[in-house]
Amino acid sequence: MQTGKIGVTSENIFPIIKKFLYSDHEIFLREIVSNAVDATQKMGAVASSGEYKGELGEQIVKVAVDKDAKTITISDHGIGMTKEEVEKYINQIAFSSAGDFLDKYKDDLDSIIGHFGLGFYSSFMVSEKVEIITKSYKEGSTAVHWSCDGSPEYSIEDSERADFGTDIILHIDDDNKEFLEDSKINELLNKYCKFLPISIAFGEEQEWKDGKMVDTGKPNIINNTTPAWTKKPVDLKDEDYADFYRELYPVHDEPLFHIHLNVDYPFNLTGILYFPKIKNNIEIQKNKIQLYCNQVFVTDSVEGIVPEFLTLLHGVIDSPDIPLNVSRSYLQSDGNVKKISSHITKKVADRLAEIFKNNRTEYEEKWDNLKLFIQYGMLSDEKFYERAEKIALFKNVDGKYFTFEEYEKLIKENQTDKNNQLIYLYATNKDNQYTYIESAKEKGYDVILMDGQLDVHAVNQLEQKFKDSRFVRVDSDVINKLIQKDDEAKSSFKDEERSNLSNVFQAVVPKGASYLVEFSDLGENAKPIIITQSEFMRRMKDMGGMSGMNFYGEMPDSYNLVVNSSHPLVKRVLSEQSDALGKELEDINAELLPLDGEKADLNKQKEGKKNDEISQELKDKIEEVTKKITDLNNKKSDILKTFGKDNKLVKQLVDLALLANNMLKGEELNKFVTRSIELIK
Ligand code: ADP
Repeated sequence: MQTGKIGVTSENIFPIIKKFLYSDHEIFLREIVSNAVDATQKMGAVASSGEYKGELGEQIVKVAVDKDAKTITISDHGIGMTKEEVEKYINQIAFSSAGDFLDKYKDDLDSIIGHFGLGFYSSFMVSEKVEIITKSYKEGSTAVHWSCDGSPEYSIEDSERADFGTDIILHIDDDNKEFLEDSKINELLNKYCKFLPISIAFGEEQEWKDGKMVDTGKPNIINNTTPAWTKKPVDLKDEDYADFYRELYPVHDEPLFHIHLNVDYPFNLTGILYFPKIKNNIEIQKNKIQLYCNQVFVTDSVEGIVPEFLTLLHGVIDSPDIPLNVSRSYLQSDGNVKKISSHITKKVADRLAEIFKNNRTEYEEKWDNLKLFIQYGMLSDEKFYERAEKIALFKNVDGKYFTFEEYEKLIKENQTDKNNQLIYLYATNKDNQYTYIESAKEKGYDVILMDGQLDVHAVNQLEQKFKDSRFVRVDSDVINKLIQKDDEAKSSFKDEERSNLSNVFQAVVPKGASYLVEFSDLGENAKPIIITQSEFMRRMKDMGGMSGMNFYGEMPDSYNLVVNSSHPLVKRVLSEQSDALGKELEDINAELLPLDGEKADLNKQKEGKKNDEISQELKDKIEEVTKKITDLNNKKSDILKTFGKDNKLVKQLVDLALLANNMLKGEELNKFVTRSIELIK
């Protein structure tokens, strides 16, 4: 038996492996299994080149756990190693300027492992001792037994092994006992080795017999050695892509489309990406793309590696140019990774454009599910916006789809206002805004449905991108002010009438929000009262609500209560009011008239004088008159409010307007129903 010391630099490396790399202990299995796969593939190559003439045997890697002996054994039937090779590949772990490298990267320990080809040594993260029993395929080789307890000291001696190949025996230390559980090993194999190109067996297949599960004697293969992305697109049918999707995500809905990536210049990349159905909530949909390096799983957290919005896609990317085992920051700054990222963005846009061009019907059918993804891309990636603006769609409230260009043509004629602004009308809820949508349609306007998670942002973006255009929600104003064409319709009511009625209606609006009463002649056939919320106020509130920081977010809602002064019912309220209060109000007005005159006179005397030049007597008089006027006005307003409160018609009209907006709830709704019954009794 011979003993020796592992390559000098390993003295620095062992403690690093053991102590500092706790984060990803589990990768040891991936490293050892993929070494076994490499050796097996090399054996295949050696055999097919004719260099080896004997039996190739079964191309399989076996993983076995012995809980009592506390070992995990990985056995392959690959090329094996001669004693010299063990010396060279295992002992001299770091020929290449390792010292320099260590110095340079000592702050980025993660990147050390991969760069060193230290894969094998990662086994020491979980083992107190590692043994290798290996026999080279080369004629006349003897088997070798290597053993090391994690210190730089190792032993190597001749041994016995029936056939060529390698067994790696890991003696798991007490801190890592979890890796001796079958379920844990199953989980890791499933995560890292699911698509390795050589069959991996763990335990035996089981079957149901006489009321229990029993071993069948057949090895239990845990991987698919030829996943769809490794095949040529021409050899695959749509079902194959669908099957592979199910293999990746057994519980997900069918995807919308797939993209088969196949690049060999200037970098190597294969993969299949899928567009999933994304209806809402972007956050929970992220990080479904799996990154592989030659069929070895690297990570499923691709943020920073692919552009943000592409993290919504599903599928697999495989590139030998993606460095294994390096830290995230290293990966993100890697030149190849950056190129890969922009290549994928372009491919995705191209694929969408292709489907749009070749099959518009299919594209429209899938638009509702694609929309969120495309908007996210357009909002977060200027390049993608430029690529997608020709294939992004608007859907109107009747379910028809238009490109931006088509839509502009559609509304240009009828929806340009007097200031030459093109007005895009939109609704966020077809049911709640039904009345407004209907009156817009009656005018011959078209209304876009904007009910998605990102639509608020999309509206802001499109307003900036489109020339001389504004987006206005259908319920933000009465119909003839929504798109102002000529000078607005005034109310036929006199000032005094408007001021009186304003008090009457104010008396019955809901508490907790502010209502501004306005008058407008909307025609006999329009509704008597319409409630609107200005586009500006609503957007400010929406934005405030989203960031939680905006001052508008805290404000109570404010609405406009538009009273249709040409409606017969409104006219009736006015005449009922003047019948009931006419005399009383006239008396007050008669008192007010001289007071107003007096106040005007007093103010005249004050004119042109500085504060200290005005006599105290004059000041007192003005104050006295002002107070009298205020008191009388308050009295007037109280009388009108009492009238409003007691008048069933007033309350009924306001409630109907609230009801049309889905704003009448709870107790108020119940009262409305009771009152309505009484009114028709
Ligand atoms: P890497 O795989 O990155 O080269 P490793 O430390 O994992 O680095 O392995 C070092 C070398 O040891 C391998 O390149 C290979 O030559 C040899 N080796 C490791 N495992 C096996 C095995 N199961 N069969 C044959 N050779 C192996």
